[in-house]
Amino acid sequence: MTADVIVVGAGIVGAACADALSMRGLRVTLVEQDGVGGGATAAGMGHLVVMDDSAAELALSAYSIRLWNELVEAAPLRHEYSRCGTIWIAADEEEMAAARAKAETLAGHGLACELLGAAALYAHEPQLRAGLAGGLLVGGDALVYPPKSARILLDKALARGATLLCAEVAAIEDHGVLLADGGRLQAPHVVLAAGTRASALLPQLPIQPKKGHVAITDRYPGFVRHQLVELGYIKSAHAASGDSVAFNLQPRPTGQILIGSSRQFGSSDLAIDPAMMTRMLRHATGFTPALGKMNLLRCWTGLRAASPDGLPLIGPSALRHGLWLATGHEGLGITTSLATAQLLAAQICGERSAIPCQPYLPQRFEAQSALVMAAGHA
Ligand SMILES: Cc1cc2nc3c(=O)[nH]c(=O)nc-3n(C[C@H](O)[C@H](O)[C@H](O)COP(=O)(O)OP(=O)(O)OC[C@H]3O[C@@H](n4cnc5c(N)ncnc54)[C@H](O)[C@@H]3O)c2cc1C
Repeated sequence: MTADVIVVGAGIVGAACADALSMRGLRVTLVEQDGVGGGATAAGMGHLVVMDDSAAELALSAYSIRLWNELVEAAPLRHEYSRCGTIWIAADEEEMAAARAKAETLAGHGLACELLGAAALYAHEPQLRAGLAGGLLVGGDALVYPPKSARILLDKALARGATLLCAEVAAIEDHGVLLADGGRLQAPHVVLAAGTRASALLPQLPIQPKKGHVAITDRYPGFVRHQLVELGYIKSAHAASGDSVAFNLQPRPTGQILIGSSRQFGSSDLAIDPAMMTRMLRHATGFTPALGKMNLLRCWTGLRAASPDGLPLIGPSALRHGLWLATGHEGLGITTSLATAQLLAAQICGERSAIPCQPYLPQRFEAQSALVMAAGHA
């Protein structure tokens, strides 16, 4: 069948794009070289979280969480959805000031949140170590099991006539792709949703891998009830270089505790780094000491696709005719996948989008590289 759109990559972003595009009546062929949702989507923590490091990040994440609420409404259990909320933990008065500023920003956008003094913090989460200053509870944040959600989105697209091709894309061409077996697919539009591997297909893209470690325990139901994240996480998440760890604890609906997270630049090797894993676990037990007595079942790593400004690339690319990008979601791509798909589909179909597309357009980098090239020729 002839396709209107070829989507490269069936992670959460590609699956969401296939869903949004097929919903608009476009014929979609999705090309995936491995398992559906098996890349960063399987490695991530599945925390649906409003982030506010920039107005654009806040707009995208808040819009996407509204879309998630609509998506999971019919069958929350299928997504292993839990509206656990996030508690941002303030270790001291300086971080409490950051919590107050965050509360003001979120409340300014109509997002429900509650400042917690120390007593309220311990009432919510008694396992936290003594001596913390307080925190901020963001009640609309939630969690899902990302590979399952990717499969559900893909199945919705397949039910509308989309096709899934198990093949490796070797090159992106004008209005098409070259497959590793030498075959070619052509369509008016190609959506590149290949996560960190987007830059293997188009080395000009400003995407680099940021490696993360995660570990999961045996079942300890009720140990913590909210996703717990230290406010110091924001410094670590947005560092442009160096290795870091931050306390990020998630109560899975199974009763297991998911422990994150670390950030390392410049490595696309998925092997576990024992020193980094030890550092991350020590840091976590510093916040919840009883964690140190629990059985760890598994640990793994994944690669976040990081862009220079921390925002994803969503929109047309001048690198090929008919090419659209949906990559660079860093540590927020589960949250922002649904909004990404809607923004991209709106652009492809010439519709007005629910939030402005401009902050995420790839041309912000393509214009820079054109300037650098022009300077080089001057
Ligand atoms: C440790 C860790 C924790 C995270 N925690 C969270 C979190 O709590 N909340 C959150 O919102 N986000 C989180 N993230 C980020 C999130 O996981 C990613 O942003 C998101 O999964 C990106 O999805 P994607 O579809 O773009 O990429 P991927 O899931 O990597 O999918 C890309 C797909 O493209 C396929 N592909 C690549 N190249 C080709 C090719 N040449 N031919 C065919 N197929 C190809 C791959 O096989 C893969 O299936 C985390 C990430 C990590 C690593």
